[in-house]
Amino acid sequence: MFVQVAFPISSYQTFTYKVPETFQKSIQVGIRVKTSFGKRVVVGIVVGISKMNSFKGKTKSISDVVDSSPILSKHLWNVILWMSQYYLTPLGQVAKSVLPASLSLKYKPPIKWMVEICDSFTEENLLSIPVRAKAQATIAEILYHSKKRTLITTLNEYVSNPLDICRKLKSKGFVRMSEIVSPPDVTGFTFDPVQKKIKFNKEQAETIDKISKAISNNIYQPFLLHGVTGSGKTEIYIEAARNAIQSGKTVIILLPEISLTPQIAGRFRSVFGEEVALWHSKLTPAQRAWTWKEICSDTFKVVIGARSAIFSPLKKVGLIVIDEEQESSFKQEAPAPRYHARDVALVRGRYEKSAVVLASATPSLESYYNQILGKLDLLHLSKRFGGAKYPQTHIVDMIKDQEESGKYGLILSGLLQDKIEDRLGKGEQVILLQNRRGYSPVMRCGDCGEVVSCRHCNVSLTFHRNKKKLICHYCGYSPDGISESCNSCHSPNMKFFGTGTQRVESILEETFPKAKIKRLDLDTTKSGAKITAILQSFEKGEIDILIGTQMIAKGLDFSNATLVGIINADVGLHLPDFRAGERIFQLIYQASGRAGRRSKLGEVVIQTYNSENPVIKKAAKLDLKAYYNIIMSERKELNYPPFSWIAKVVFTGQNQQSVENSSLKMMQMLKGRFKGLDVLGPAPCYFEKLRGNYRTQIVFKISRELDPNGKKLHSFLEKNFFETQMKSNHIKMSVNVNPLSLL
Ligand code: ADP
Ligand code: ZN
Ligand code: ZN
Repeated sequence: MFVQVAFPISSYQTFTYKVPETFQKSIQVGIRVKTSFGKRVVVGIVVGISKMNSFKGKTKSISDVVDSSPILSKHLWNVILWMSQYYLTPLGQVAKSVLPASLSLKYKPPIKWMVEICDSFTEENLLSIPVRAKAQATIAEILYHSKKRTLITTLNEYVSNPLDICRKLKSKGFVRMSEIVSPPDVTGFTFDPVQKKIKFNKEQAETIDKISKAISNNIYQPFLLHGVTGSGKTEIYIEAARNAIQSGKTVIILLPEISLTPQIAGRFRSVFGEEVALWHSKLTPAQRAWTWKEICSDTFKVVIGARSAIFSPLKKVGLIVIDEEQESSFKQEAPAPRYHARDVALVRGRYEKSAVVLASATPSLESYYNQILGKLDLLHLSKRFGGAKYPQTHIVDMIKDQEESGKYGLILSGLLQDKIEDRLGKGEQVILLQNRRGYSPVMRCGDCGEVVSCRHCNVSLTFHRNKKKLICHYCGYSPDGISESCNSCHSPNMKFFGTGTQRVESILEETFPKAKIKRLDLDTTKSGAKITAILQSFEKGEIDILIGTQMIAKGLDFSNATLVGIINADVGLHLPDFRAGERIFQLIYQASGRAGRRSKLGEVVIQTYNSENPVIKKAAKLDLKAYYNIIMSERKELNYPPFSWIAKVVFTGQNQQSVENSSLKMMQMLKGRFKGLDVLGPAPCYFEKLRGNYRTQIVFKISRELDPNGKKLHSFLEKNFFETQMKSNHIKMSVNVNPLSLL
């Protein structure tokens, strides 16, 4: 018997090994084995089994078997193969990024104790408990009346040491105790479950019906679920998941942002309980390994997580949902494989024969167009659930506002300030979006204009007031202290420009001293528990104003939030990227969608210095169709996606000259090979220098008319880049298929 083994190394070959007699019974595709590779002992994954050996050279034997059951399914292996080919990344490297780094067995998830009253327990037993053992009597009585298996920690409402008390009752033969294993971070990272009565309206019921049909018919069917904010998309995922589980299948839900996890996981857990696993960046490697193994042994039916949850080793996947499918966080930009979880989901869905639902109130233009082409089936939810109205929006032209009031540099317009005041008076809640963290994004000399920049990146440093530090948001570099004079002209006239969330927070605290204000951005949410705590306390009404970055702009559902303020709608508007406008539109539209999701009417105040800009104007009217029509024709004219396929090749290195030279050399080498392709560059990237490396790029583009499925572009890349190694090892070259950003 022979096996083909893949290793997590930069190589896209698999290697053949002999299987000694003793291991032959335990060999399966998907288990890990130990082998010698060169001089080292390496762990690899069995990806094939054969009787014959087609390899002519000397064949070594495997030295051990690591797993007793597969850690990978056939479909998942096919997905890995596809990714390697499509994203031009060595197979081993793809496998390495898909599988959790160490499948260690060290992690033991927390155990929780449950207790219930014994069937034989009677009223007399209760009376037999002595008066001085009051706590025992209390607990026995509660359990006797409830007759339910109860989590012991929840009894601390009644007594201070419930576990001890239950042990005493157990020794008397009154109660039974049992253990349950609590999956990592599932309980600590979810809202308290609430039971909700759900009655679907006609539109919702039809939507569920179509998805469920695909699931029960065992066919691959990709959908675009385009439903306005508050139309009940999340309830639809839950119902479709229920149907999938009922027909013996499993479910993957991808969320774009960790801040969405607690609320949505809470909603799923209130329905599916312990069958829900979370997969996100805050899990430790050991927790990941444990979760992965448990998924392999069918402990969970639903996995909810970030983009890498698309690789969870569930079997019989019947439903994959990509919530807010337009979000750029689904694309892994670095390291390779530079995959898009949406594309991977569609491919996995095809192998698994499952329903794949791309869902959003603001679909990506790609999906929007794919639906027009008939590649995705449209499911449309046209109205908010329960008659909730769409919010009323106001645009504030900050330039006019300042001229009229005579006050310059204000962060809050008069209108926004009045509206916040009004909500605070009524006991309603406010969400404020400022899509920039820190206090101030720019520190500049008032005399010569020199900006204080990162020494490793060509970007300005952001001032963080509570740490009293300047920090680079790209590489994390922070100089010692803040220099009091200009590096260039030595003037002491240094000033802060621009506004981040910290600055908005401090202005709010001055303006509304009585209000309870919390900030949610990367700086306040180092732990998952912190995110959960802030959001949960906002939901409970303990916070009046929640200020945050795009983390708070989408997906969240708060019943009492009736005002959304967008402090500066222009952040990022002028970036030279063809998707800049689309992103801002989606952000404004999504943020507006947080207002007035129940009976009370919501309002949105959008502050801008570009009130005539079509993106801002259409977003303020929440007029998706009009805006999408505008950008579709723009994209068509400029031959950008979705009307074309693009790929980006980036050169990086510490020496600016050699980076430029290598990209030029590459261009010369490729001359004459790109028939039909548009080639842009080589040119310095917008972010010319990041983390000490200079960057140049070449962008390749071909219209869909010439290349309907992107095959021509792909084979061009394959021929020229897959196996090309740069001669100089000081320069790195990376290929990005379907890049989301050209900066
Ligand atoms: P979306 O994900 O589209 O923004 P949600 O699923 O969050 O919308 O729904 C908005 C609110 O309306 C949620 O609180 C949700 O529980 C409630 N809701 C939606 N559909 C129903 C229904 N059929 N019955 C009861 N409540 C519903
Ligand atoms: Zn200066
Ligand atoms: Zn930096």
